[in-house]
Amino acid sequence: MKNETLAAQGLGWIDEATRAISPPLHLSSTYLRDVDNGYRSGREYIRADNPAFDQPEALLKALEGGADAALFASGMAAATCAFLALKGDDHVIAPRVMYWGLRRWLLEWSLNVDLVDMGDLDALKRAMRPNTRLIWAETPSNPTWEITDLAAVAEIAHDGGALLAVDSTCATPVLTRPLVLGADLVMHSATKYLNGHSDLIAGALVTRADGEYWQRILTLRAQLGGVLGSFEAWLLLRGMRTLFPRVRQACRNAQALAERLSTHPHVVEVLYPGLASSPGHAIAARQMDGGFGGMLSIRVKGGEQAAIGTAANVKLWKRATSLGGVESLIEHRASVEGAGSPCPPDLLRLSAGIEDTEDLIADLEQALE
Ligand code: PLP
Repeated sequence: MKNETLAAQGLGWIDEATRAISPPLHLSSTYLRDVDNGYRSGREYIRADNPAFDQPEALLKALEGGADAALFASGMAAATCAFLALKGDDHVIAPRVMYWGLRRWLLEWSLNVDLVDMGDLDALKRAMRPNTRLIWAETPSNPTWEITDLAAVAEIAHDGGALLAVDSTCATPVLTRPLVLGADLVMHSATKYLNGHSDLIAGALVTRADGEYWQRILTLRAQLGGVLGSFEAWLLLRGMRTLFPRVRQACRNAQALAERLSTHPHVVEVLYPGLASSPGHAIAARQMDGGFGGMLSIRVKGGEQAAIGTAANVKLWKRATSLGGVESLIEHRASVEGAGSPCPPDLLRLSAGIEDTEDLIADLEQALE
């Protein structure tokens, strides 16, 4: 079956006890121990054994083509767990342009990390050290939507004895399947497209192989306790059922917005991998299937104040951070990222939702005026 079918039906699972099509919501935090002192249910305590995770994790594993998946309390809980599961002096390479919150965490907590331009494969090769254990990539990358050639980076990682982990939040399994391209680990802020309704925070990791590194991740998840709540897991599964049509409509809207805004007199530049003029377009066309994502950015003529003023003028778009919801969001990104960010001060980040394309374009055009 196609992934679209698996998602719509949540793998087609039903609850055997009730024949319910939508899963029951298990809230129990603990499970009965048998008289022989064992656990015939296989579950002991909710932090490690939450049945509410079974279906959404199985679905995500199927969509990404992985060996296993794990839900976390947030995208940050998932991403940081992937780094904390490394050992002692393991060296990490991460992109210069990436989700700012994770970049800040990596730099502030003095992990053994180097930031490189992931588009420069020679620079990446030069940054590899004998103790490099993980390359982290994000594609398309926040907030300028640069594209990383995952197959090429996976080869460099593996040649050097390292693993490749990919923040695939913005690509989603609808458009890119990093594990199939050679990556070892995929991370999602499920807060974004996977859930899609801006009403929960969640994260996920999916692994290509169930080996020692993955077992360290699962152990750490239970020990650190950064686990998702049962209701959030239930809502996440509901959101994932509509992942494909939502992402496809967001892609259509983003492509139309990018094309229309690139000729607007008050726009200096549109950053979107779906534009033929974008530096990452050729790789994106090969690596992304069925669209170039719902995220784009525009640089506004007149600089920072003109950009902030444009965001202030919107009527339909919502001025808010985050992305990947059904409603379109706009934000002056440098105001969020602060000092040390590579984000240009005149940049507005746009998360295209699933509204009518012309409504979205008309609102931005009047705001730019
Ligand atoms: N990765 C990307 C690309 C993101 O946009 C975000 C959040 O904005 C995160 C990771 C962190 O996820 P969360 O906010 O769910 O912790």
